[in-house]
Amino acid sequence: MGLTFRSLFRADSSLRAGVKDDDGFVIAIRGAASVCRCPACGGVCDRVHSQYRRRLADLPAGGVRIALILRTRRFFCDAKACARRIFAERFEAVEPRARRTSRLDDVVHCLAIALGGRPAASLSRRLNVVVSNDTLLRLVRRRGPRSFPPPSIVGIDDWAWRRNQRYGTLVCDLERRTTIALLPDREPATAEAWLALHSQICVVARDRGGGYAVAAQRALPHAIQVADRWHLMENASSAFLDAVRKSMRQIRTAMGAGVIDPSLLTFAEKLQYEGYLRREETNAAILSLKEQGIAIKEIVRRTGYSRGLIRKILCGQRSDVFRVRQSSLEPYLPWLDEQWGRLVVEMEPPSGGRFGSADSAVALAS
Ligand SMILES: [Zn+2]
Repeated sequence: MGLTFRSLFRADSSLRAGVKDDDGFVIAIRGAASVCRCPACGGVCDRVHSQYRRRLADLPAGGVRIALILRTRRFFCDAKACARRIFAERFEAVEPRARRTSRLDDVVHCLAIALGGRPAASLSRRLNVVVSNDTLLRLVRRRGPRSFPPPSIVGIDDWAWRRNQRYGTLVCDLERRTTIALLPDREPATAEAWLALHSQICVVARDRGGGYAVAAQRALPHAIQVADRWHLMENASSAFLDAVRKSMRQIRTAMGAGVIDPSLLTFAEKLQYEGYLRREETNAAILSLKEQGIAIKEIVRRTGYSRGLIRKILCGQRSDVFRVRQSSLEPYLPWLDEQWGRLVVEMEPPSGGRFGSADSAVALAS
């Protein structure tokens, strides 16, 4: 342990005594040098003004907490040109006014970055390091973001401060694969203002909505815009699921899955299946009345069902086990597709348009 503290505080300090109290080991330590350099002018000073004690937490040893009582001297600076009259001596391993040694601070900072406030505080307690979640967050803020070269390829998208209530904008540097900015909202004007401050950006990967496209177009007219891989996959998978959902009847018929095992159904499917059994009873009753030669008007009178429903049953249009929700847009989809195709042709940029292809987005993100 002596070696540890010697290496921690080097030759300018000496270990005085170590005792064990309820909180762990307490080790007294003090500066050994008789002179000290003024932090303002660098002059060598030897007149001691006073001294005080600082208590510092250090890394636990063998699961036992370690506290250092550091006797710190204040020196006079006698240099005429120096504005500093009195200063406290500095130690290599301790920042001025710090309550933890630098090496403990590094560990605590890593925990805060990796886990965030409360989880890091909880793990710190298990490691026998006393630090609150507020302190962890304060430490992360104090050290600030690391410096990085100006980004040239960025991804921009919205993210939720609070889902369905408040959204912000997230900007990532895609070359370094890291977040570089969190904007307070997802307004195009806010994104535009941020992008305008970074004119070196040459590629913007974004969602397929219009807001960020307009912002990037205004702030960075020279930049290439590409649809990012996540949004392409998300759009493709939702379109696929939609198509599957709408074609379930045909898919079941093609798979020959006419026989249903109720034990394999989910709760929601079971409810639908029970409804189907009830509908089948009604269908059978109405079909048997029809077979007896009874007119639809009379069936309506006897059963109380509507004329439209009875017609549907007689035409065999009410035999689905699982209901398929049809969109009111369904009949107009072929016409809309045709119009969309025409619009795309009209909007096609002349040549070498600014908008990149999906392939370039995939290449970019991979
Ligand atoms: Zn000085």
